[in-house]
Amino acid sequence: MFTSIAGRAVVVTGATRGIGKGIARVFAGAGARVLIVGRDAEAAKATVAELSATGAEVSHVLADVSQREDCQRIAATATERLGGIDVLCANAGIFPAVSLAEMTDENIDEVLGTNLRGTILSVQACLPALAASGHGRVVVTSSITGPITGFPGWAHYGASKAGQLGFLRTAAIELAASGITINAVLPGNIVTEGLDELGEEYLASMTASIPLRRLGTVEEIGHAALFLATDEAGYITGQTIVVDGGQVLPESLAALDG
Ligand code: NAP
Repeated sequence: MFTSIAGRAVVVTGATRGIGKGIARVFAGAGARVLIVGRDAEAAKATVAELSATGAEVSHVLADVSQREDCQRIAATATERLGGIDVLCANAGIFPAVSLAEMTDENIDEVLGTNLRGTILSVQACLPALAASGHGRVVVTSSITGPITGFPGWAHYGASKAGQLGFLRTAAIELAASGITINAVLPGNIVTEGLDELGEEYLASMTASIPLRRLGTVEEIGHAALFLATDEAGYITGQTIVVDGGQVLPESLAALDG
């Protein structure tokens, strides 16, 4: 149905675990050559071993996306190892919770530094390679939290995720001249190691608020990202896809009764 993306060079940041690993798995399964990015060497090696077991070409580079030099090293590694970059999935992100009343400068800088600055820096660093590709694609992992919803403890996180969308709308206009599209996937609650750390009570209350009555899988985010990276999605830019089981829809809990 869709033109194959087999052989395309794909960089996925924050792919040592969680949603990024799911995105990497989906792209590798479609025959892409994937470079995964993260800071944890052991997790990176384990993920590469797991994803390569099917015969896919997957490797890693250790980098912190909040640092400009690291992002430049990601792009240089992809160019050297994969011959360029066709797709960048800017997915790396953190979500430590703290109330607004207690939020420190460090809390704000950490979250905005990784989620927002890290998105901008990784896109910037990959631009020359994406332009050279002729069909460059950027897929940002944002969230429903910030752009659409709110949750106590995540004021800084929500700002970072909404900020990603502000960034991509202008980036889409600037990058169009190079034939690059940039779009975002907005996950709802997705089953990951990171989400597991929020505890059973949080997971149960979230499941109850989702019309489809389950959390999402990392592969379901990967499939949305894969669609945005296809040739057939080449006329979509500056847009968002919500993947949340309908979580943003109920006007109140009563809407889910019965
Ligand atoms: P996760 O399981 O905690 O994984 C986060 C990934 O990001 C890890 O691979 C981590 O790798 C990497 N990372 C964190 N800081 C980094 C940095 N400074 N530089 C490079 N890599 C970094 O979280 P997740 O749930 O998969 O979240 C992934 C993305 O989805 C985030 O942008 C998050 O906001 C978004 N999201 C998640 C959900 C959800 O329900 N899970 C919902 C909405 C949006 P290392 O530890 O190896 O650095």
